[in-house]
Amino acid sequence: MKELHGVMAEVISLLRFQAQLGVDGYPKEILSALPKGARPLEEIEKDALRCEQCRLCETRNKVVFGAGDPNANLMLVGEAPGAEEDKQGVPFVGRAGVLLTKILKSIQFEREEVYIANVLKCRPPENRDPIPAEVEACEPFLIEQIATIKPKIICALGAHAARTLLKLGPSTSIGSLRGIIHNYQGVPLIATYHPAYLLRSPDKKRDTWEDVKFLRRLYERTMEQENS
Ligand code: SF4
Repeated sequence: MKELHGVMAEVISLLRFQAQLGVDGYPKEILSALPKGARPLEEIEKDALRCEQCRLCETRNKVVFGAGDPNANLMLVGEAPGAEEDKQGVPFVGRAGVLLTKILKSIQFEREEVYIANVLKCRPPENRDPIPAEVEACEPFLIEQIATIKPKIICALGAHAARTLLKLGPSTSIGSLRGIIHNYQGVPLIATYHPAYLLRSPDKKRDTWEDVKFLRRLYERTMEQENS
């Protein structure tokens, strides 16, 4: 696994380097050479649980790998575990998690039928923003999770998750990414505010409601196409 993790980290570095050079799109010939969906989630999780690829392993209590239906059609990706997640080893279980569950319910999704993960699997101290080296080290786990789950739609929660998945620069705001169907390796991706941000900025809840209604419509359309 260490070798695979290293290969994927190198691929991600290459993607970032190409983005810095202004090269458009993903080098698909490289990505398609990787064993997509080759490993069950349990195997990937085992590697994450013993991972020491970045310094967050020194301060974490628990690795927060992900939770939900491994065959989910909808996958939500957040930024990193917070204090409660770090205690329990489960994503989105604190106040932000309660809000996320309510948001999902408002568009007729139960938590158990979606899959929820973060870009970082270990909590940054004091909930500080992830640093690029941590994202680079941890992203291969997320890439493998997505490749295994094969969601039909991805929803990025917050700017960090959206920028990581879409390979965008640090100045891209979440506001500029909302209301657009983005493309993550052929999977439609939409972006909205992180529930933790909504707790601090409740005035953004109305925008989030618009985003999740948009997500529900996109989900229904995508599933209709899948089933036709
Ligand atoms: S954050 Fe990710 S890369 Fe860093 S130690 Fe945790 S699992 Fe490993």
